[in-house]
Amino acid sequence: MNKLRLVQLLESVLLSGSLNDKSSEITFHCPFCKHHKKKLNINLISQKWHCWVCGVGGYTILALFKRLRVEKRFYDVLNKITGNNFSRVSIDKEYEFLSLPSEFIELAKATKNNPEVKNALSYLNKRNITSQDILKYNIGYCPTGKYGGMIIIPSYDHQGLLNFFTGRSYYDVNFKHLNPTVSKDIIGFDMFVNWNEPITIVEGAFDAIAIKRNSIPLFGKLILDNLKIKILDSKVKRINIALDKDASKNALEMANYFFSNGIDVYLVELPEKDPSELGFKTITNIIKMVDKLTPQKLLEYKINEY
Ligand SMILES: [Zn+2]
Repeated sequence: MNKLRLVQLLESVLLSGSLNDKSSEITFHCPFCKHHKKKLNINLISQKWHCWVCGVGGYTILALFKRLRVEKRFYDVLNKITGNNFSRVSIDKEYEFLSLPSEFIELAKATKNNPEVKNALSYLNKRNITSQDILKYNIGYCPTGKYGGMIIIPSYDHQGLLNFFTGRSYYDVNFKHLNPTVSKDIIGFDMFVNWNEPITIVEGAFDAIAIKRNSIPLFGKLILDNLKIKILDSKVKRINIALDKDASKNALEMANYFFSNGIDVYLVELPEKDPSELGFKTITNIIKMVDKLTPQKLLEYKINEY
C-alpha cells in the first residue's frame, strides 16, 4: 500500500493531519466530536482508527469513509490505493452511525491498577474470558455514563464497521444488561466468521466468545433476516444451534428452517448451563457428540414441543 498516497487521500477528506512516520500513525481533528485538538488517530498500516475523545473508531478506512458519508470519488481512490474493490453499496445500513459509548475504554490498554479496571477484569476472568479474547474482540468497559460499571463487547461487520455492542454490568446490580437502541438484525461478530466452515449460533456475546471458533451471537433468542439470508447465500454446510434451554422453541424453529433449506443441522441440547458457563472445552465436546438432525428426529422434537 502506498502510504504517501493514503496520507494525501486522508488529508483531502479530513484536512491537514499530523504524521508520525515512525509509528505510521496520523492524527486529525475528529469530525465526529470536533474536539479542538487532533484526537482522531489512524494507523496507516493496520487502517485501525480511533478518536481518543469520543471513542468512535473502526478497523478499516473504508468504515471511516462510510461513517463520514464521503463522496464516491474518495472510495475510488481508496480502492486504488488499498487494492480492494469495495463498492459503496449498502451504505444505508442502520448501524452506520452507531458508535461505542464515549466513555468506552479498551481493556487491553487500560491502567491495570485502576479499581474499575480490576473489577472489570476480575468479572471477565470469572466468565472465562482470556486476555487474547479481550484483544481480539476489542472488549472494553465504561467507568461512567449510561454504561457506567459495564463491560462493553463490540461486534463488527465484515468490513470492520461497528454493527452492535452489548453492555454487561461487572457489578451485582439489578440491571445487568444494556444494549443500544438499534436493530439486532445484524450479523454478530461478522468480522470473525469464516462462512466456508461450520458455524455455531448462540444467544449472547459471552457464549460466542466461549465457543471461540466461528460462533455467531444473536444478542437474543431470535434469528433475524440478515443472518438467515447470509447463511443461505454463503451456502453454509453445517450449523450448530446452541441456544439456552429456555429457548428450545426458537432453536427448533431455526433448526426446521435450515434443515428444510438443505443444511446439515446439529441441535445442541445444552445442560442447565449456557455455553459461557460451560466453558470452551465442555461446550466443544458437547457439540462433537451431537448427532446430525434427521427428519425422524425433527418430527420427534416437534411432537414433544406441542
Ligand atoms: Zn472524536
